[in-house]
Amino acid sequence: MPESDCASTKAYEPGRAKTVRAICPRCGGPGAPVKTITLKQMALPELLELANKPGFHFCGARDCEVAYFRREGEILRKQDLRVRVGLKETKDPVPLCYCFGFTEEMIREEIRATGECTVPQRIAAEVKAGNCACEIRNPQGRCCLGLVTSTVRRQMESAIATKAPHPQLF
Ligand SMILES: [Zn+2]
Repeated sequence: MPESDCASTKAYEPGRAKTVRAICPRCGGPGAPVKTITLKQMALPELLELANKPGFHFCGARDCEVAYFRREGEILRKQDLRVRVGLKETKDPVPLCYCFGFTEEMIREEIRATGECTVPQRIAAEVKAGNCACEIRNPQGRCCLGLVTSTVRRQMESAIATKAPHPQLF
């Protein structure tokens, strides 16, 4: 019965409040609901009491230091967590896949070396084998595959742009 959480983008509790969006108090961006088990894994020990409160949402905006917030006003910033939030980091290591340890740098290196990237397929195979635990490892509390795929696309495009031939002057 437990369909992998990887496959789902489960949103709000069914029924009510579907139209009420959670807005990050710092950046004004939309938040995605996260489960308490994710919060408890991520928060530093001294913040567990706060992390245990229900109703936290994840802010994925890169420039926003808020990782989680509640509609009631409490926040957990990225420095309040045990892990680096890849979505909010620009310097290596930028973790993308928390279950199997892939970083943005690994993707960049593979593209540089081979011109392609097999990371999404490798993750998909691991997920299929039931080896993922996104809920407790990924700060987003859900599968990284969408983020990994978009990162690969972006890195491929920038690799192509970098390789574009410069006009020969001589
Ligand atoms: Zn925010």
